[in-house]
Amino acid sequence: MDSAVSILILAHVESDGALARPALEALTAGASLAKQLGAPLAVGLVGADTAAAASVAAGGGAARVFAVTGAAFAQPRYATDAAAAEAICRAAGADIVIAAGTSRWMRVLAGVAQRLGGRVDTHITRVAADGGAVSVARWYYRQRIEGITSRTERPWIMAIEPGTHDAFAGAAAAVTVEPVTVALTEIRSEVTGVRAPASGEQTIRPDASLLFVAGAGWTKKQTDGQTHVPEAESLILGCLRASQASLGGSKSLVDLSGEGQAVLPFMTHLNQIGQTGSSPRHRKGLATCCHGEEPHVVGWRFITERRAVNLNPNCGWAQGKTDVLYVADAFEVMRKVNERLQ
Ligand SMILES: Cc1cc2nc3c(=O)[nH]c(=O)nc-3n(C[C@H](O)[C@H](O)[C@H](O)COP(=O)(O)OP(=O)(O)OC[C@H]3O[C@@H](n4cnc5c(N)ncnc54)[C@H](O)[C@@H]3O)c2cc1C
Repeated sequence: MDSAVSILILAHVESDGALARPALEALTAGASLAKQLGAPLAVGLVGADTAAAASVAAGGGAARVFAVTGAAFAQPRYATDAAAAEAICRAAGADIVIAAGTSRWMRVLAGVAQRLGGRVDTHITRVAADGGAVSVARWYYRQRIEGITSRTERPWIMAIEPGTHDAFAGAAAAVTVEPVTVALTEIRSEVTGVRAPASGEQTIRPDASLLFVAGAGWTKKQTDGQTHVPEAESLILGCLRASQASLGGSKSLVDLSGEGQAVLPFMTHLNQIGQTGSSPRHRKGLATCCHGEEPHVVGWRFITERRAVNLNPNCGWAQGKTDVLYVADAFEVMRKVNERLQ
Protein backbone atom coordinates (compact mmCIF):
# COMPACT_ATOMS: atom_id res chain seq x y z
CA MET A 1 0.00 0.00 0.00
CA ASP A 2 1.16 3.50 -0.80
CA SER A 3 -1.21 5.39 1.45
CA ALA A 4 1.29 7.98 2.76
CA VAL A 5 3.42 8.59 -0.30
CA SER A 6 4.75 11.91 -1.43
CA ILE A 7 5.00 12.49 -5.14
CA LEU A 8 7.55 14.70 -6.87
CA ILE A 9 7.57 15.71 -10.51
CA LEU A 10 11.02 16.55 -11.77
CA ALA A 11 11.24 18.93 -14.73
CA HIS A 12 13.96 20.84 -16.54
CA VAL A 13 12.90 24.13 -18.07
CA GLU A 14 13.66 25.14 -21.63
CA SER A 15 15.94 28.04 -22.60
CA ASP A 16 12.91 30.38 -22.69
CA GLY A 17 11.90 29.36 -19.15
CA ALA A 18 8.87 27.34 -20.31
CA LEU A 19 8.05 23.71 -19.65
CA ALA A 20 8.15 21.65 -22.85
CA ARG A 21 5.33 19.28 -23.72
CA PRO A 22 6.98 16.14 -22.21
CA ALA A 23 7.28 17.95 -18.86
CA LEU A 24 3.62 19.02 -19.05
CA GLU A 25 2.69 15.39 -19.74
CA ALA A 26 4.68 14.30 -16.67
CA LEU A 27 2.74 16.92 -14.71
CA THR A 28 -0.53 15.35 -15.88
CA ALA A 29 0.69 11.87 -14.89
CA GLY A 30 1.89 13.04 -11.46
CA ALA A 31 -1.23 15.07 -10.70
CA SER A 32 -3.44 12.13 -11.63
CA LEU A 33 -1.48 9.75 -9.40
CA ALA A 34 -1.53 12.23 -6.50
CA LYS A 35 -5.29 12.53 -6.88
CA GLN A 36 -5.79 8.75 -6.94
CA LEU A 37 -3.69 8.35 -3.79
CA GLY A 38 -4.85 11.50 -2.03
CA ALA A 39 -1.13 12.30 -1.77
CA PRO A 40 0.63 15.69 -1.74
CA LEU A 41 2.21 16.77 -5.02
CA ALA A 42 5.50 18.63 -5.31
CA VAL A 43 7.37 19.81 -8.39
CA GLY A 44 11.14 20.22 -8.66
CA LEU A 45 12.49 22.49 -11.39
CA VAL A 46 15.97 22.79 -12.85
CA GLY A 47 17.11 25.59 -15.15
CA ALA A 48 18.49 29.09 -15.49
CA ASP A 49 15.21 30.76 -14.59
CA THR A 50 12.34 28.69 -13.23
CA ALA A 51 9.83 31.38 -12.19
CA ALA A 52 7.36 30.96 -15.07
CA ALA A 53 7.50 27.16 -14.89
CA ALA A 54 6.86 27.31 -11.12
CA SER A 55 3.55 29.11 -11.70
CA VAL A 56 2.52 26.50 -14.27
CA ALA A 57 3.44 23.72 -11.83
CA ALA A 58 1.34 25.35 -9.13
CA GLY A 59 -1.56 25.61 -11.57
CA GLY A 60 -1.15 21.89 -12.19
CA GLY A 61 -1.69 21.11 -8.52
CA ALA A 62 1.77 21.34 -6.96
CA ALA A 63 1.50 22.35 -3.30
CA ARG A 64 5.27 22.81 -3.06
CA VAL A 65 7.71 23.85 -5.76
CA PHE A 66 11.45 23.31 -5.35
CA ALA A 67 13.94 24.88 -7.73
CA VAL A 68 17.61 24.63 -8.55
CA THR A 69 18.39 27.71 -10.59
CA GLY A 70 21.40 29.36 -12.12
CA ALA A 71 23.39 29.59 -15.33
CA ALA A 72 25.17 26.30 -14.62
CA PHE A 73 21.82 24.49 -14.81
CA ALA A 74 20.74 25.92 -18.17
CA GLN A 75 22.69 23.38 -20.20
CA PRO A 76 22.01 19.66 -20.19
CA ARG A 77 25.06 18.10 -18.55
CA TYR A 78 25.36 14.95 -16.46
CA ALA A 79 27.24 16.48 -13.52
CA THR A 80 24.91 19.43 -12.97
CA ASP A 81 21.63 17.71 -13.86
CA ALA A 82 22.30 14.68 -11.65
CA ALA A 83 23.39 16.86 -8.74
CA ALA A 84 20.31 19.09 -9.12
CA ALA A 85 17.89 16.15 -9.35
CA GLU A 86 19.46 14.43 -6.36
CA ALA A 87 19.32 17.59 -4.24
CA ILE A 88 15.66 18.21 -5.12
CA CYS A 89 14.65 14.60 -4.40
CA ARG A 90 16.35 14.80 -1.00
CA ALA A 91 14.77 18.19 -0.20
CA ALA A 92 11.31 16.94 -1.14
CA GLY A 93 11.75 13.58 0.60
CA ALA A 94 9.82 12.07 -2.29
CA ASP A 95 8.80 8.42 -2.45
CA ILE A 96 7.77 8.57 -6.07
CA VAL A 97 9.59 10.77 -8.57
CA ILE A 98 8.04 11.30 -11.99
CA ALA A 99 10.05 12.82 -14.82
CA ALA A 100 9.58 13.11 -18.56
CA GLY A 101 11.66 10.62 -20.53
CA THR A 102 13.54 13.37 -22.37
CA SER A 103 17.08 12.70 -23.57
CA ARG A 104 18.27 15.11 -20.86
CA TRP A 105 16.60 13.24 -18.00
CA MET A 106 17.19 9.77 -19.45
CA ARG A 107 20.92 10.42 -19.22
CA VAL A 108 20.86 11.06 -15.49
CA LEU A 109 17.87 9.35 -13.86
CA ALA A 110 19.50 5.95 -13.36
CA GLY A 111 22.48 7.63 -11.68
CA VAL A 112 20.19 9.67 -9.46
CA ALA A 113 18.30 6.52 -8.42
CA GLN A 114 21.62 4.88 -7.54
CA ARG A 115 22.71 7.87 -5.42
CA LEU A 116 19.39 7.85 -3.57
CA GLY A 117 19.38 4.08 -3.07
CA GLY A 118 16.15 3.92 -5.06
CA ARG A 119 14.99 2.33 -8.30
CA VAL A 120 14.17 3.64 -11.75
CA ASP A 121 11.84 2.51 -14.56
CA THR A 122 11.81 4.08 -17.99
CA HIS A 123 9.52 4.29 -21.06
CA ILE A 124 6.45 4.30 -18.82
CA THR A 125 3.16 4.74 -20.63
CA ARG A 126 0.76 4.62 -17.66
CA VAL A 127 0.96 5.13 -13.90
CA ALA A 128 -1.89 3.86 -11.78
CA ALA A 129 -2.87 3.33 -8.17
CA ASP A 130 -5.05 0.31 -7.63
CA GLY A 131 -6.34 0.10 -4.07
CA GLY A 132 -3.46 2.33 -3.01
CA ALA A 133 -0.74 0.22 -4.66
CA VAL A 134 1.20 2.06 -7.37
CA SER A 135 2.03 0.31 -10.63
CA VAL A 136 3.46 1.37 -13.96
CA ALA A 137 2.95 0.02 -17.46
CA ARG A 138 5.48 -0.08 -20.25
CA TRP A 139 5.94 -1.91 -23.55
CA TYR A 140 8.61 -4.48 -24.24
CA TYR A 141 10.02 -6.12 -27.34
CA ARG A 142 9.11 -3.32 -29.74
CA GLN A 143 5.62 -2.84 -28.32
CA ARG A 144 4.61 -6.50 -28.64
CA ILE A 145 4.16 -7.08 -24.91
CA GLU A 146 2.84 -4.71 -22.27
CA GLY A 147 4.21 -5.30 -18.78
CA ILE A 148 2.87 -3.93 -15.49
CA THR A 149 5.34 -3.48 -12.66
CA SER A 150 5.10 -2.45 -9.05
CA ARG A 151 7.96 -2.01 -6.62
CA THR A 152 8.41 -1.72 -2.88
CA GLU A 153 11.73 0.15 -3.03
CA ARG A 154 11.62 3.90 -2.58
CA PRO A 155 12.32 6.40 -3.96
CA TRP A 156 10.94 5.02 -7.19
CA ILE A 157 11.86 7.15 -10.18
CA MET A 158 9.60 6.89 -13.24
CA ALA A 159 10.48 8.26 -16.67
CA ILE A 160 7.30 8.86 -18.65
CA GLU A 161 7.41 8.15 -22.37
CA PRO A 162 6.69 11.44 -24.18
CA GLY A 163 3.48 11.38 -26.23
CA THR A 164 1.58 9.07 -23.92
CA HIS A 165 -0.26 11.61 -21.74
CA ASP A 166 -2.22 14.79 -22.29
CA ALA A 167 -0.11 17.87 -21.69
CA PHE A 168 -1.29 19.96 -18.72
CA ALA A 169 -2.96 23.03 -20.19
CA GLY A 170 -4.60 24.70 -17.19
CA ALA A 171 -4.06 28.19 -15.83
CA ALA A 172 -0.95 29.15 -13.88
CA ALA A 173 -1.14 29.94 -10.16
CA ALA A 174 0.93 31.81 -7.61
CA VAL A 175 3.38 29.83 -5.50
CA THR A 176 6.31 30.44 -3.19
CA VAL A 177 9.31 28.66 -4.65
CA GLU A 178 11.64 26.84 -2.26
CA PRO A 179 15.21 27.25 -3.55
CA VAL A 180 17.48 24.21 -3.30
CA THR A 181 21.23 24.68 -3.10
CA VAL A 182 23.54 22.27 -4.89
CA ALA A 183 27.17 21.80 -3.93
CA LEU A 184 28.77 21.48 -7.36
CA THR A 185 32.11 19.89 -7.88
CA GLU A 186 34.28 20.93 -10.79
CA ILE A 187 32.35 21.23 -14.09
CA ARG A 188 34.40 19.64 -16.82
CA SER A 189 31.97 19.50 -19.74
CA GLU A 190 30.28 22.23 -21.67
CA VAL A 191 27.72 22.15 -24.48
CA THR A 192 29.23 24.09 -27.35
CA GLY A 193 26.46 23.62 -29.92
CA VAL A 194 23.83 21.32 -31.34
CA ARG A 195 24.29 19.20 -34.45
CA ALA A 196 21.07 17.81 -35.95
CA PRO A 197 20.82 15.31 -38.81
CA ALA A 198 20.66 17.14 -42.13
CA SER A 199 17.20 16.15 -43.31
CA GLY A 200 16.71 19.42 -45.19
CA GLU A 201 13.14 19.96 -44.07
CA GLN A 202 11.45 19.13 -40.76
CA THR A 203 9.13 16.25 -41.64
CA ILE A 204 8.66 14.42 -38.34
CA ARG A 205 5.73 15.89 -36.44
CA PRO A 206 4.76 13.71 -33.47
CA ASP A 207 1.68 15.84 -32.75
CA ALA A 208 0.20 15.55 -36.25
CA SER A 209 -3.08 13.66 -36.54
CA LEU A 210 -1.97 12.06 -39.83
CA LEU A 211 1.06 9.89 -40.59
CA PHE A 212 1.90 9.88 -44.30
CA VAL A 213 4.09 6.92 -45.22
CA ALA A 214 6.11 6.75 -48.41
CA GLY A 215 7.42 3.41 -49.63
CA ALA A 216 10.10 2.46 -52.11
CA GLY A 217 7.51 2.28 -54.92
CA TRP A 218 7.82 6.06 -55.33
CA THR A 219 11.33 5.54 -56.72
CA LYS A 220 10.58 2.48 -58.90
CA LYS A 221 9.98 2.39 -62.67
CA GLN A 222 6.37 3.16 -63.42
CA THR A 223 4.05 1.95 -66.20
CA ASP A 224 5.92 4.08 -68.79
CA GLY A 225 9.17 2.28 -67.93
CA GLN A 226 10.65 5.41 -66.31
CA THR A 227 11.23 6.56 -62.73
CA HIS A 228 9.62 9.85 -61.66
CA VAL A 229 11.54 10.79 -58.55
CA PRO A 230 11.32 14.61 -58.85
CA GLU A 231 7.53 14.36 -59.21
CA ALA A 232 7.37 11.92 -56.28
CA GLU A 233 9.31 14.44 -54.18
CA SER A 234 7.01 17.30 -55.11
CA LEU A 235 3.83 15.24 -54.49
CA ILE A 236 5.01 13.99 -51.08
CA LEU A 237 6.27 17.37 -49.89
CA GLY A 238 3.18 19.08 -51.32
CA CYS A 239 0.95 16.79 -49.29
CA LEU A 240 3.02 17.28 -46.13
CA ARG A 241 3.03 21.06 -46.42
CA ALA A 242 -0.70 21.26 -47.09
CA SER A 243 -1.80 18.72 -44.49
CA GLN A 244 0.97 19.21 -41.87
CA ALA A 245 1.14 15.41 -41.69
CA SER A 246 4.19 13.66 -40.26
CA LEU A 247 6.33 11.73 -42.75
CA GLY A 248 7.17 8.08 -42.27
CA GLY A 249 9.05 5.79 -44.61
CA SER A 250 9.58 2.11 -45.23
CA LYS A 251 13.00 0.66 -44.58
CA SER A 252 13.59 0.08 -48.28
CA LEU A 253 13.04 3.74 -49.04
CA VAL A 254 15.12 5.20 -46.21
CA ASP A 255 17.94 2.75 -46.96
CA LEU A 256 18.02 4.00 -50.56
CA SER A 257 18.25 7.58 -49.34
CA GLY A 258 20.97 6.71 -46.85
CA GLU A 259 23.09 5.25 -49.61
CA GLY A 260 23.34 8.69 -51.17
CA GLN A 261 21.33 7.89 -54.29
CA ALA A 262 19.38 10.67 -55.92
CA VAL A 263 16.14 9.68 -54.24
CA LEU A 264 13.91 11.65 -51.88
CA PRO A 265 16.74 13.46 -50.06
CA PHE A 266 14.47 14.53 -47.18
CA MET A 267 14.00 10.90 -46.04
CA THR A 268 16.35 9.79 -43.26
CA HIS A 269 16.44 6.76 -41.01
CA LEU A 270 14.62 8.88 -38.44
CA ASN A 271 11.54 8.57 -40.68
CA GLN A 272 11.57 4.77 -40.71
CA ILE A 273 8.46 3.07 -39.34
CA GLY A 274 8.52 -0.58 -38.31
CA GLN A 275 10.25 -3.31 -36.43
CA THR A 276 13.64 -1.66 -36.70
CA GLY A 277 12.15 1.83 -36.92
CA SER A 278 9.61 3.68 -34.82
CA SER A 279 6.03 3.00 -33.69
CA PRO A 280 4.43 6.48 -33.75
CA ARG A 281 1.06 7.35 -32.25
CA HIS A 282 -0.81 9.32 -34.89
CA ARG A 283 -4.57 8.85 -35.09
CA LYS A 284 -4.61 8.19 -38.86
CA GLY A 285 -2.13 6.72 -41.31
CA LEU A 286 -1.92 6.70 -45.10
CA ALA A 287 0.62 4.40 -46.76
CA THR A 288 1.60 5.06 -50.36
CA CYS A 289 3.77 2.91 -52.64
CA CYS A 290 4.58 0.74 -49.64
CA HIS A 291 4.03 -3.00 -49.79
CA GLY A 292 2.80 -3.42 -46.22
CA GLU A 293 5.13 -6.23 -45.14
CA GLU A 294 4.89 -7.31 -41.51
CA PRO A 295 8.26 -5.85 -40.38
CA HIS A 296 6.93 -2.49 -41.58
CA VAL A 297 3.31 -2.78 -40.45
CA VAL A 298 4.32 -3.77 -36.91
CA GLY A 299 5.28 -0.10 -36.50
CA TRP A 300 1.65 0.87 -37.15
CA ARG A 301 0.28 -0.76 -34.00
CA PHE A 302 -0.75 2.56 -32.44
CA ILE A 303 -2.27 4.00 -35.65
CA THR A 304 -6.01 3.67 -35.26
CA GLU A 305 -7.38 4.43 -38.74
CA ARG A 306 -5.32 3.01 -41.61
CA ARG A 307 -5.49 3.44 -45.37
CA ALA A 308 -3.09 2.44 -48.13
CA VAL A 309 -2.65 3.11 -51.84
CA ASN A 310 -0.96 0.36 -53.82
CA LEU A 311 -1.10 -0.85 -57.44
CA ASN A 312 -1.00 -4.42 -56.23
CA PRO A 313 -4.32 -5.85 -54.95
CA ASN A 314 -2.35 -8.66 -53.29
CA CYS A 315 0.02 -6.42 -51.34
CA GLY A 316 0.47 -6.91 -47.60
CA TRP A 317 -2.07 -4.21 -46.74
CA ALA A 318 -4.78 -6.35 -48.39
CA GLN A 319 -4.15 -9.07 -45.79
CA GLY A 320 -6.29 -7.34 -43.14
CA LYS A 321 -3.63 -4.77 -42.21
CA THR A 322 -5.51 -1.68 -43.32
CA ASP A 323 -9.10 -0.43 -43.06
CA VAL A 324 -9.19 0.70 -46.69
CA LEU A 325 -6.86 -0.30 -49.55
CA TYR A 326 -7.11 1.80 -52.69
CA VAL A 327 -5.80 -0.29 -55.59
CA ALA A 328 -4.58 2.68 -57.56
CA ASP A 329 -1.58 4.61 -58.83
CA ALA A 330 -0.33 6.72 -55.91
CA PHE A 331 1.01 9.38 -58.29
CA GLU A 332 -2.52 9.91 -59.66
CA VAL A 333 -4.16 9.70 -56.24
CA MET A 334 -1.77 12.17 -54.59
CA ARG A 335 -2.04 14.63 -57.49
CA LYS A 336 -5.81 14.75 -56.87
CA VAL A 337 -5.47 14.78 -53.08
CA ASN A 338 -3.02 17.70 -53.25
CA GLU A 339 -5.34 19.63 -55.57
CA ARG A 340 -8.11 19.25 -53.01
CA LEU A 341 -5.82 20.22 -50.13
CA GLN A 342 -4.83 23.50 -51.80
C1 LIG B 1 14.73 -8.05 -39.54
C2 LIG B 1 14.00 -7.11 -40.47
C3 LIG B 1 13.57 -5.89 -39.98
C4 LIG B 1 12.90 -5.01 -40.82
N1 LIG B 1 12.47 -3.81 -40.31
C5 LIG B 1 11.75 -3.01 -41.10
C6 LIG B 1 11.24 -1.77 -40.61
O1 LIG B 1 11.47 -1.39 -39.46
N2 LIG B 1 10.51 -0.99 -41.44
C7 LIG B 1 10.25 -1.34 -42.74
O2 LIG B 1 9.60 -0.58 -43.46
N3 LIG B 1 10.72 -2.49 -43.23
C8 LIG B 1 11.47 -3.31 -42.46
N4 LIG B 1 11.97 -4.46 -43.00
C9 LIG B 1 11.85 -4.65 -44.46
C10 LIG B 1 10.47 -5.09 -44.89
O3 LIG B 1 10.36 -6.50 -44.78
C11 LIG B 1 10.26 -4.70 -46.37
O4 LIG B 1 11.34 -5.14 -47.13
C12 LIG B 1 10.10 -3.19 -46.60
O5 LIG B 1 9.15 -2.65 -45.71
C13 LIG B 1 9.64 -2.98 -48.04
O6 LIG B 1 9.55 -1.62 -48.31
P1 LIG B 1 8.51 -1.06 -49.37
O7 LIG B 1 7.16 -1.63 -49.11
O8 LIG B 1 8.63 0.42 -49.39
O9 LIG B 1 9.15 -1.56 -50.76
P2 LIG B 1 8.70 -2.65 -51.78
O10 LIG B 1 8.57 -3.99 -51.13
O11 LIG B 1 9.65 -2.53 -52.93
O12 LIG B 1 7.24 -2.23 -52.23
C14 LIG B 1 6.98 -1.15 -53.08
C15 LIG B 1 5.49 -1.13 -53.32
O13 LIG B 1 5.17 0.01 -54.07
C16 LIG B 1 4.07 -0.33 -54.90
N5 LIG B 1 4.02 0.67 -55.97
C17 LIG B 1 4.95 0.95 -56.93
N6 LIG B 1 4.54 1.97 -57.70
C18 LIG B 1 3.34 2.34 -57.24
C19 LIG B 1 2.41 3.35 -57.62
N7 LIG B 1 2.63 4.16 -58.66
N8 LIG B 1 1.29 3.49 -56.91
C20 LIG B 1 1.04 2.66 -55.84
N9 LIG B 1 1.86 1.69 -55.46
C21 LIG B 1 3.01 1.54 -56.14
C22 LIG B 1 4.36 -1.73 -55.36
O14 LIG B 1 3.17 -2.38 -55.77
C23 LIG B 1 4.96 -2.34 -54.09
O15 LIG B 1 3.95 -2.99 -53.32
C24 LIG B 1 12.66 -5.35 -42.17
C25 LIG B 1 13.07 -6.60 -42.64
C26 LIG B 1 13.73 -7.47 -41.81
C27 LIG B 1 14.17 -8.79 -42.35
